[in-house]
Amino acid sequence: MPAGVTTSHMPLEENLRLPLPRLAEIPFSAGDSTIRVLTDEALFEACGTRIAFTTRDGGVSEGAYAGLNLSHAVGDDDDAVDANKALLCEALGMNNCIERLVTPLQVHGTDIVEIRHIVESQRRVAEGADGVVCAQADVPVLLCFADCVPVILVAPDGSFAVIHSGWRGSIASIAGLGLQRLQAIAGFPASEVNCYVGPHIGPCCYEVSDELVERFVAEFGTACDAGGSHLDLSAAVTAALLRAGASADRIVHADICTSCHHEEYYSYRADAGVTGRHGAFAIRKEEA
Ligand SMILES: [Zn+2]
Repeated sequence: MPAGVTTSHMPLEENLRLPLPRLAEIPFSAGDSTIRVLTDEALFEACGTRIAFTTRDGGVSEGAYAGLNLSHAVGDDDDAVDANKALLCEALGMNNCIERLVTPLQVHGTDIVEIRHIVESQRRVAEGADGVVCAQADVPVLLCFADCVPVILVAPDGSFAVIHSGWRGSIASIAGLGLQRLQAIAGFPASEVNCYVGPHIGPCCYEVSDELVERFVAEFGTACDAGGSHLDLSAAVTAALLRAGASADRIVHADICTSCHHEEYYSYRADAGVTGRHGAFAIRKEEA
């Protein structure tokens, strides 16, 4: 190959391309419960990767955590959280995968862990990570949220990344870093990766300091400034993904504000700090 020519812009065979990303709310049954998640059915049919942005719907937690709280780190009853995780896995048809569940300790950093050996990876993410890249089949990955931006990236072969992008991660372009890592591992151009931005606090409700808005505008442009000291994290995440090579038509937003919709989603701000966590979940099934 001549110098300067890379494979990253070679056209993909049409049958290796994913359908353009879409998010739709679909109910899944687990025992007597019904769990509603945002998912992309066509993606699952194309590459065997099931993604899900969960809601509060269908869980057994009570009080401030009422519903499908998926975090052990927020003061909820541990047995309830375990039951909620089991319900989620059952609803998505993965009863046998729960012991392999990878759930990082999220620390608002930029570390992204690639899953290799499962036990080693579980130990590694427990030390702190805000992104997971996974090319292995039947390894479920779950990150937890209450206002921060959940991002799921899926390559044409079904390998994926799940990213936690709070304001610190967003200004550090963690979604773009995740896309670069996934591209390197999966070997597909970034422009062929489907990018899903889940429910998070919207510009309507995310009031921050003027200084922070200015930092975002300096990094990502004026689209981040929603006026009146309100910050648009979606605009920052989109800019980071585009800068990393994503195709604009392969970025889809749930366009749901967790603070406006805090009866359906957990919202740290709307619930004054005591609340549960919904999830961004992905698994590549061996047999779709
Ligand atoms: Zn809002």
